[in-house]
Amino acid sequence: ISKIGVYTSGGDAPGMNAAIRAVVRVGIAQKLEVFGIHSGYIGMVDNIIQPLQLRDMANVIQRGGTILKTARSTEFMKPEGRAKAAANLKAAGIDALVCIGGDGSFRGAHALWEEHQIPVVGVPGTIDNDIYGSDKTIGFDTAVNTALEAIDRIRDTAASHDRLFIVEVMGRNSGFIASHVGLAGGAEEIFTPDGLTTVEKAIDHIKEGIARGKTSSILITAEGQKPGRAYDLADSIRKKSGMDAKVSILGHQQRGGSPTAADRILASRMGAAAVDSLLKGQCDIMIGTEGERLVTVPLDLVTKTEKKTQIDLISLANLLAT
Ligand code: ADP
Repeated sequence: ISKIGVYTSGGDAPGMNAAIRAVVRVGIAQKLEVFGIHSGYIGMVDNIIQPLQLRDMANVIQRGGTILKTARSTEFMKPEGRAKAAANLKAAGIDALVCIGGDGSFRGAHALWEEHQIPVVGVPGTIDNDIYGSDKTIGFDTAVNTALEAIDRIRDTAASHDRLFIVEVMGRNSGFIASHVGLAGGAEEIFTPDGLTTVEKAIDHIKEGIARGKTSSILITAEGQKPGRAYDLADSIRKKSGMDAKVSILGHQQRGGSPTAADRILASRMGAAAVDSLLKGQCDIMIGTEGERLVTVPLDLVTKTEKKTQIDLISLANLLAT
């Protein structure tokens, strides 16, 4: 291979830029030409592709978001859209791709390989950490730390006013942010889409705490948890117990911000490994982590397998918040 393309796709995550930087700089060091494809599959279908040089990567390692932009493409979901994308790549002489994104982006990457034999290596970039085959995804550590900072502030005011707070973190289908933030933030109860706890259990915990002299409590809830969104949860607690809960929804701030050291290091290692894999002739795989070690996992397996929330973190958080 002599020309590779890199793109970010699906939801953005802090650290994507560090991954792009690693792909570009390792690629150029290995005598490859590297092209940036704008806005994920939209740029691939609409031919928004430009060469990237070493200096284009100056001052990007610390920036959140993605300098290549990211998007969702309905055209690429259809075989005709993918054929158009493949034709554009072939016209530009691009031999292989690095896809930085989530599950959906990898499904697209797998289809490009299957239908058009364009080799793709995936790098998992999503704040949700919900990608099978990698213990950690790029952006997760930053999102957890951003949410935690907000929760620490909320705890100050909760403690001063003897209040019950419900803090909603991101995670429509995944409880990773909620479970990590809940344990690290000392939450009384953690609601995740796994439906492990109930409003009744939460009320019991809070009441037990009050009986032991506790005056304030924080519940963490993921967007997609079973009893509904944060305001529904507050209503339900009010109706069932008479307790009044303040609600704070953290929202999109969790997607932004400068990536943590852990995310920059992860992104740099994964971006570099993706280029190395392509040079070794590997494709249709994702770079993942197993503990500290980098591993490769077939994209098909990644997209077809569900990654389970670490339930042990939630039970430990419950045990410790006494
Ligand atoms: P993420 O990568 O964060 O999971 P999405 O699920 O939105 O984000 O996927 C990003 C893009 O990947 C979609 O807009 C679409 O263009 C492409 N994509 C997703 N699923 C498929 C699929 N099954 N086949 C082809 N392309 C897909």
